[in-house]
Amino acid sequence: MSEVSDAFRNAFCSGGGISAECGCGITHFARENTHYDWNVGEHANLLELEKAEPDKYIESADDSVDYLNVLGRTWVFGCPCDYGPRVEGLLWRHRESVAEFLLDESNAELVKEFRVHNTVDNAKLAIDRLNKQHVISDDAAERLKGGLGEAV
Ligand SMILES: [Zn+2]
Repeated sequence: MSEVSDAFRNAFCSGGGISAECGCGITHFARENTHYDWNVGEHANLLELEKAEPDKYIESADDSVDYLNVLGRTWVFGCPCDYGPRVEGLLWRHRESVAEFLLDESNAELVKEFRVHNTVDNAKLAIDRLNKQHVISDDAAERLKGGLGEAV
């Protein structure tokens, strides 16, 4: 069981709560605490389920169950299925082609924006938007904006 990097964590929507079902089918539930209003017997019932089906129910060591939505699938942090770390590993192993794809898509988007708005100011706004969306880095945004002045 491994964890994911902060960058990977920030790339996907996250959530948390009293319990969550991971995409693998395992239901994770928080340890009994005062942060949540458990229904009477709810936590005890989950503990019974965990005892009966330890491969389907896991009590977390934490006060809440946190998860990411990774490519349309819920992955609970620390789940033994390791879905998050496996996706991160896959992206990392294919990082060169993924980076190439992102650059191609970014360039195509910039060309489209430039054709639609046809002004340097609007192209700069489009570059800033792509930068804010983390499609392109700060350095790439500055380089592209610098190149706009030369292109016009
Ligand atoms: Zn899982």
